[in-house]
Amino acid sequence: MPRNTHYIAGRFVEDTTSERIAVYNPATEEQIAEIPDAPAEVVDAAVDAARRAQPAWAELPPIERAGYIRAIADKIRGKVDILAETITREQGKTLDLARGEVLGMAGLMDYMAEWARRIEGEIIASDRKGEAIYLNRVPIGVVGGILPWNYPFFLIGRKLAPALVAGNTIVIKPSEETPLNAFLFAELADEAGLPEGVFNMVSGRGRTTGAALSGHPGIDLVSFTGSVPTGVAIMEAAAKNLTRVNLELGGKAPAIVLKDADIGLAVEAITVSRVVNTGQVCNCAERIFVERGVADEFTERFVKRMAAVTYGDPLAERGVDMGPLINATQLGKVAAMVERAQAAGASAALGGKVAERNRGHHYEPTVLTGCTPDMEIMRKEIFGPVAPIAVVDSAEEAVHHANDTEYGLTSSLYTRDLNQAMRITRNLKFGETYINRENGEAYQGFHAGRKKSGIGGADGKHGFYEYMETQAVYIQHG
Ligand code: NAD
Repeated sequence: MPRNTHYIAGRFVEDTTSERIAVYNPATEEQIAEIPDAPAEVVDAAVDAARRAQPAWAELPPIERAGYIRAIADKIRGKVDILAETITREQGKTLDLARGEVLGMAGLMDYMAEWARRIEGEIIASDRKGEAIYLNRVPIGVVGGILPWNYPFFLIGRKLAPALVAGNTIVIKPSEETPLNAFLFAELADEAGLPEGVFNMVSGRGRTTGAALSGHPGIDLVSFTGSVPTGVAIMEAAAKNLTRVNLELGGKAPAIVLKDADIGLAVEAITVSRVVNTGQVCNCAERIFVERGVADEFTERFVKRMAAVTYGDPLAERGVDMGPLINATQLGKVAAMVERAQAAGASAALGGKVAERNRGHHYEPTVLTGCTPDMEIMRKEIFGPVAPIAVVDSAEEAVHHANDTEYGLTSSLYTRDLNQAMRITRNLKFGETYINRENGEAYQGFHAGRKKSGIGGADGKHGFYEYMETQAVYIQHG
């Protein structure tokens, strides 16, 4: 069993005095653990440990830092079963998806380790005689990583690996909903012999531990993934110290299906996107715009496919397509949004209600037809297995409505016409666009939201360099 303690300066710190937070299995509603809600003093100790460790860590050749990242990735692969089961128990995703999350995270760690030999500066011609100018990439210092619950384990690696390879140290705060996988990660990092203080982990609520971390003067970069309102709170807290922020926030991805699309492909891709992790994914298809000529065919096939989606307790009923929503609040939020959509004129062609089960926060796979772009269900993040469909008369109309949103994370487009695909892609105001497929970003890509979906990004070369800053050096010589 994970020790459920903070991990600070290379030690598991027993915390018996802080307030406790109960952790539940969302499929059974049973309490499975209790964790401490770290107050500011505990956060101080973790930030202090990270600050003390950072200079020596930055002195190591990058390839040696990367060696630790690879060692942790190997340990993760050796513990995939227990890690996946822990994620499923506290978060509710299927075991296959949890295994994918664990292995995907280990793969991302390996990918980021490759950057050790690719950190490059620049030499620039000077206007002065006998002067060399060069730009050096240097670590930022201490990173505070604040994580959501939907891909809790993957997000540890997405922040920690680039931060550490770049020469920073880090303090991670997992979501209070899903802390147990992070405790296991701390054990593996410890076993891998990571020098003390390079990685620290504190558990607690957002308003206590998270606020203390994001407003801490000893943090040089807050790297946050979560909702827009929390992103705003974190930016406000960071502002008082002028701490840099990297924010990966919510989305409302449009899936645009044009009349020349491969309808079978679109139906399959959008279904999987909408139900994977029970619809709780920042870049999954959240609203569908289908061109009138194929609207009936698409809707009929889509409803049939969504009706085949199975759900249940992923540990007790192996093989189900989706598990429960994370908690009762999220279930109530999804149910209320669907009710308001129906009151505004949408119809449930499938589902439309809380699942009739004795236990667990399950919502039926749902398809809403007759939606219009002004409806709340087409504008606000649902984060559940609910697909609202609006019919449009042209590609231009679809693009107009797709862009008419405060979010800018992901979009997708289904067409067989390459020219149309290229033209529309240029006009979509989103950080990511998928053509003839749905979300699923590559390690070497760049996952970044525009507008209220965030600031900065993750993955690939550009995501790696978010964890470094530039130093200009001027050398006057003879
Ligand atoms: P959330 O914003 O409620 O919580 C995220 C984290 O922030 C938690 O650890 C929480 O304890 C902490 N927190 C809450 N209030 C805080 C405060 N005032 N100060 C500091 N920390 C605070 O988000 P969530 O419900 O855990 O996750 C779901 C959201 O995350 C969705 O909106 C989803 O779209 C988004 N998300 C985005 C991405 C992306 O890459 N863009 C990825 C995954 C999830």
